[in-house]
Amino acid sequence: MVLTHDVLVIGAGLAGMRAALEARRKGVDVAVLSKVHPVRSHSTQAQGGINAALGEDDSWEKHSFDTVKGSDFLGDQDSIEIFCKEAPGDIIELEHMGTVFGREEDGRIAQRPFGGAAFPRTCYVADITGQVLLHVLHEQILQAGVRVYEEWFATSLIVEDGVCRGALAMEIRSGQLQAFSAKVVIMATGGLGRVYEPSTNSLISTGDGQALAYRAGAALMDTEFVQYHPTALRNGILMTEGARGEGGYLLNSKGERFMEKYAPKMIELASRDVVSRAEQTEIDEGRGVNGFILLDLRHLGREKILERLPQIHELAMDIAGVDSIEEPIPIRPSMHYFMGGIKTDVDGATLLPGLYASGECACVTVHGANRLGGNSLLETVVFGRRSGAAAAEYAGGVPAGNVSEALVSQEGDRIKAVLDRSDSGDSVARIRMEMGETMNRYVGMFRNEEGLNTAVAKIAELKERYKRVGVHDRSRVFNTSLLFHLELGNMLDLAEAMAFAPLHRKESRGAQFRVDYPQRDDEEWLKHVLVRYTPEGPSLDYSPVTITRWQPERRVY
Ligand SMILES: Cc1cc2nc3c(=O)[nH]c(=O)nc-3n(C[C@H](O)[C@H](O)[C@H](O)COP(=O)(O)OP(=O)(O)OC[C@H]3O[C@@H](n4cnc5c(N)ncnc54)[C@H](O)[C@@H]3O)c2cc1C
Repeated sequence: MVLTHDVLVIGAGLAGMRAALEARRKGVDVAVLSKVHPVRSHSTQAQGGINAALGEDDSWEKHSFDTVKGSDFLGDQDSIEIFCKEAPGDIIELEHMGTVFGREEDGRIAQRPFGGAAFPRTCYVADITGQVLLHVLHEQILQAGVRVYEEWFATSLIVEDGVCRGALAMEIRSGQLQAFSAKVVIMATGGLGRVYEPSTNSLISTGDGQALAYRAGAALMDTEFVQYHPTALRNGILMTEGARGEGGYLLNSKGERFMEKYAPKMIELASRDVVSRAEQTEIDEGRGVNGFILLDLRHLGREKILERLPQIHELAMDIAGVDSIEEPIPIRPSMHYFMGGIKTDVDGATLLPGLYASGECACVTVHGANRLGGNSLLETVVFGRRSGAAAAEYAGGVPAGNVSEALVSQEGDRIKAVLDRSDSGDSVARIRMEMGETMNRYVGMFRNEEGLNTAVAKIAELKERYKRVGVHDRSRVFNTSLLFHLELGNMLDLAEAMAFAPLHRKESRGAQFRVDYPQRDDEEWLKHVLVRYTPEGPSLDYSPVTITRWQPERRVY
């Protein structure tokens, strides 16, 4: 039997649930499918907050300029204007839905300073903002009557005559494959942090949606731009930017606030690409502390730390064994966020008819070459809402799909072949670790041609090994080995595209620092790189950057 819905949303993080809610409000039949229970999506880990120009002295224009500058002038300014103009309305709506934002004494929503922002405009719920928002939206979609398929894993998109008509998915509990027919699919599968090792991302952030869309014919854009967050513990666990927003310092081994050298005006609150590179430079030049930088919160005092940063205090204690009230926390940059993704317009439409995308898996692009903290949660709600509305409208104009059940058996054969494979002596975990370490080393904060070529060759080798590797668990029920296998296939395709595109962008901009081309080159490179899938490997194309009112200028903090 084929399951049929008007709108099928893949992913139940903030973007997926916000899109589903909006589509449902337009009166169409909506289902959400997620590989984990909705409130376990990575959005739950967002700590520091969500941006909007709410303050009397702030404005959407100021928020836009900070975002454009943060993006190193690669963000599309028409998208950024919409993004920043609509932000306050979305925050107030989240508040009305029940989000218990932090407050000022007089009752207004409190806002903390964040990196790269000239104004304190990050709304927060202590340091558990994402968790609270996710629970609020989960309640909303249940109340609105959205059908939720939880613990279902989407394995591929269904494309007929160049139009997306649904998806194939596996119910994890039973291992059963199922065809979903939909008038429109919204991809909202989040980030791909686990292509890197280490990463601040959850183990489930494996870029499945980007890979499915890429293979189905949608283009990926800005894949050169990967954000390293300046403050992560050894294993990648994040210490929110809110810690610096509340006044935390970064110190080197000499006890210096070294950021004064790199960003005299904004110091620790320069944008993330700038701070991460500065930290790594200090470490590489011998002014680190056993390979780390120190995040010092002591001067904030016990009361403020426990009120505003309780989770940071607890994580530092549990994971690094450090009491942040008494001692500085050893941190270092870690892979955090993917600015690139499935290319969409401002309503979420991709280049594949019938497929929309929103949230971290999409690329609108408001973040350009570097995202500002607090702008990603905002992207999930603004563009989640817009894509839900646009997809519902699209669904109203197309006839019901008629997907063939035969597709299920073809996909079943592909999966059976993995289960039947004999032991190649290799393992999914080994290939995944080698991929992650290769990407971190050669496609990380500092890049050069030789390293990028090494990465391309290594990913090609890993893709060959992947074709032969099987799984030890051959059962059907809750087979997580099989899921890891499928996720690795997705990540390898993305790793290939992500190592390939930066080779071509011969300049440094935002998060991409080419040691061999250290300057930004607006003459040649004020454009987006698009990557398309072909069986022979990625193929490149370009698209212009939309500039409305902010001409590129030198970027200093
Ligand atoms: C530790 C951390 C802290 C952060 N803090 C902040 C912050 O303070 N402010 C900010 O603005 N941003 C922050 N970010 C970034 C921000 O949280 C994310 O970009 C955003 O939450 C992504 O939301 P999403 O809805 O796009 O995806 P996610 O929340 O990642 O959800 C993805 C969904 O897709 C589903 N899915 C994936 N693959 C499949 C598949 N194959 N089949 C079925 N379902 C699938 C998952 O089950 C999940 O429901 C942080 C990120 C991290 C990692």
